[in-house]
Amino acid sequence: DSLASQVAAGEVVERPAAVIRELVENSLDAGARHITVEVQRGGTALIRITDDGCGMDREDAMLCMERHATSKIRTKEDLAAIRTFGFRGEALPSIASVSRFRLATRERDALSGTEIEIMGGKLSAVKDHGGNHGTVIEVRSLFFNVPARRKFLRTEATEYSHIEQQFRLHAIANPQTAFTLIRDGAVTFHLPATADMIDRIRGLAGDELVTRLIKLPEVEHLGVSVSGYIGGPGLSRSNRQQQITFLNGRPIESPAINYGLKEGFHNALMKGQYPVTFLFLEMEAQAFDINVHPAKKEVRFHDGFAVREAVARAVKRALETGSK
Ligand code: ADP
Ligand code: MG
Repeated sequence: DSLASQVAAGEVVERPAAVIRELVENSLDAGARHITVEVQRGGTALIRITDDGCGMDREDAMLCMERHATSKIRTKEDLAAIRTFGFRGEALPSIASVSRFRLATRERDALSGTEIEIMGGKLSAVKDHGGNHGTVIEVRSLFFNVPARRKFLRTEATEYSHIEQQFRLHAIANPQTAFTLIRDGAVTFHLPATADMIDRIRGLAGDELVTRLIKLPEVEHLGVSVSGYIGGPGLSRSNRQQQITFLNGRPIESPAINYGLKEGFHNALMKGQYPVTFLFLEMEAQAFDINVHPAKKEVRFHDGFAVREAVARAVKRALETGSK
């Protein structure tokens, strides 16, 4: 069913950044301490993710390339409670159906690992792999066999900027994991593991920006807790790329948060100015729905006003005190 896989791939994998999203989530699931993301030509020529996670034995490596073999969603309750990453075990087969795909993996104590090659969804080789423990996945020539999809890709620079944004999200969500990003052979980010969020933000955004950030006071309002950092009114951008919000550790977007920010900054902002914000929300899982479509991070809060209010309060207090 390689056609079915290709169709599904369009759902899961709309562009190179989405491949990176799925593969890095898998590496995190595998307990990786260091994840390296390498891309060439905006990810259209090559995406390579290397991790030092648990790896797979041969049986699991073969199995994970079969559609739905690893589905984690079995009941409605599962669906309501998707707390771990991963979406229905479709990512790897979908990506492999639209690329020249190579998986090399070895468990920590195994004498030998497994290497699998798949060309446009067709298994072309399975052999022993003698590399490091952990997993390397290479995705070459994305959409080479789906010209309609390939045409849909933007310039390499644009695709790369989506990749970098995706990388930032993962890196901020997981400061205890080391991350490296390599673009066309040059290291763009090398972020050592840290226990301190501000170190991670510094690694991504630079010293200059970090010294101008204001730490939010911890605000708790109707079951919504907010923490994080914001730029003062002078530290803003012309788009929302640097307005990053995590809900229980996952990057999300929501109008309720945008309204909360707008209200919190009230008159301090001109139209079309978006202050740099790193928000961390914590809420009970029953208080929101995450769209189950894998490519979307849109959240529906059961009480959007509470979220808006919590964000607005945190921002107002931070701006009042200017506390660092
Ligand atoms: P899902 O993440 O929903 O299970 P995927 O297709 O993304 O579906 O991955 C399928 C399975 O392959 C995972 O559940 C995991 O067991 C295994 N896997 C994928 N990537 C890795 C990795 N980097 N390290 C170890 N196991 C992995
Ligand atoms: Mg996955």
